Amino acid sequence: MTASRYRGRFAPSPTGPLHFGSLVTAVASFLEARSRDGTWLVRIENLDPLRESPEATQQILASLDAHGLHSDEPVRFQSEHHARYRKLIDQLLDKGLAYRCACSRRQLREHNGRHPEHCREGHAQANGRPFAVRFKLYDELSEWRDQLLGPQTQTVHAELDDPVILRKEGFFAYQLAVVADDIDQGITHVVRGSDLLDMTAQQQQIYRALAAQPPHWMHIPVILNAEGQKLSKQNHAPALDDRIAQDNLRKALAALGQDPGLLSGASDIDTLLSRAAANWAPERIHLTAR
Ligand code: GLU
Repeated sequence: MTASRYRGRFAPSPTGPLHFGSLVTAVASFLEARSRDGTWLVRIENLDPLRESPEATQQILASLDAHGLHSDEPVRFQSEHHARYRKLIDQLLDKGLAYRCACSRRQLREHNGRHPEHCREGHAQANGRPFAVRFKLYDELSEWRDQLLGPQTQTVHAELDDPVILRKEGFFAYQLAVVADDIDQGITHVVRGSDLLDMTAQQQQIYRALAAQPPHWMHIPVILNAEGQKLSKQNHAPALDDRIAQDNLRKALAALGQDPGLLSGASDIDTLLSRAAANWAPERIHLTAR
């Protein structure tokens, strides 16, 4: 048991094997937790069986292990928590904080994102058509502090931005599940890629709707390929070669701006990671790539 209250996590969606960009995020969240004597968890965000696969989950977990990044508690799988998400969605619907929406993308486009069927007011009749459930945002100028990027100002547009929390196909969606799990796992600090920065103000509203305390967020720059695109499966980022885990870790630490001189003597992965944690300096992360 650690004395610190800090609880962090790495929460990949298993759309493909771990690549260099996701390793950098995993390493940053791991070191931030370790340097604060905290607990570090791994959670597999497998909500979408059409885009994700059990093989990718196994590959990610094997890769994390090969890189010395071991979860301090059993790995959590979102696919095992459907009943919890269902219950929260029912609660939000009951309180009028979410609504059923059968509008098609085309209908929404033709009405500049407004809901022509007035589903927000609960007037929509699905009439047997598939419907999504959306979270009801309110207009807000959200001001909060990112632990790396500093003060943030984000505008939330009610109705136009309302995120889907249950998809028409019946799958639970990221925006609710990520908040539900971070609450249930007692996560106090989230370190993740800056591609998710824009989601944060919406997530804060979901925390409030669930009467929960939001975590602190730290968004780190995403790693770009030579064409300036985020490294991702869609952009054909290659899988990490687990046989050269130590090299990969050194490159990840360099991408995070950490001083290679402080790591030079480390000959095995565990020593490398504990030295990196002892010298972890997030202020050295270059912000230019954001
Ligand atoms: N599952 C999300 C992803 O892989 C990350 C969720 C988060 O860190 O908030 O992009």
